[in-house]
Amino acid sequence: EGLSDLLLSRVRDVPDHPKPGIVFKDITPLLADPEAFGALTEALAATARELGATKVVGLEARGFILGAPVALAAGVGFVPVRKVGKLPGATLSQSYDLEYGSAEIEIHAEDLAADDRVLIVDDVLATGGTAEAAIGLIRRTKATLVGLAVLMELGFLPGGERVRLALGEVPYQALVTV
Ligand code: 5GP
Repeated sequence: EGLSDLLLSRVRDVPDHPKPGIVFKDITPLLADPEAFGALTEALAATARELGATKVVGLEARGFILGAPVALAAGVGFVPVRKVGKLPGATLSQSYDLEYGSAEIEIHAEDLAADDRVLIVDDVLATGGTAEAAIGLIRRTKATLVGLAVLMELGFLPGGERVRLALGEVPYQALVTV
């Protein structure tokens, strides 16, 4: 299919990054190509419109690069989910387990109102741990979670299954699965 082929052709495999044995999916060639970046933005904005989203929530850091133009294209606001300690105001935070240790993400809860409908956007779904934590975080705000959309799912990991379980009836979209 045209869009997924275009997107896939602009993602570069980087072996042994950030550590030996990991093949990192590098999206910078896609970002550098306005045709592919534009098509990605338009596809995710269409999802936001279909779901009636009123806010796009992007996950640090590549979820910011994708989420901000998606929000503007869909005519809605953008709200960042950041790593702990970066946001200056009152935050809600959520910690989650990594392979070794744990991580924590935060949001300015006051940037989401009770009538907001949230689409979470990120670049790559790997283990699904980050997205699952973001799902939990949004559910603790006043707003309603209406979807999770990613550019790429790593289908050889159980992340897709994990987020579907966490989302329940809420839609999940991966534009490309590898
Ligand atoms: P997870 O929590 O699903 O294991 O990892 C997903 C998070 O780590 C996302 O925020 C994503 O940006 C980042 N990530 C993990 N693996 C990759 C990868 O191969 N390429 C890119 N671009 N990001 C990755």
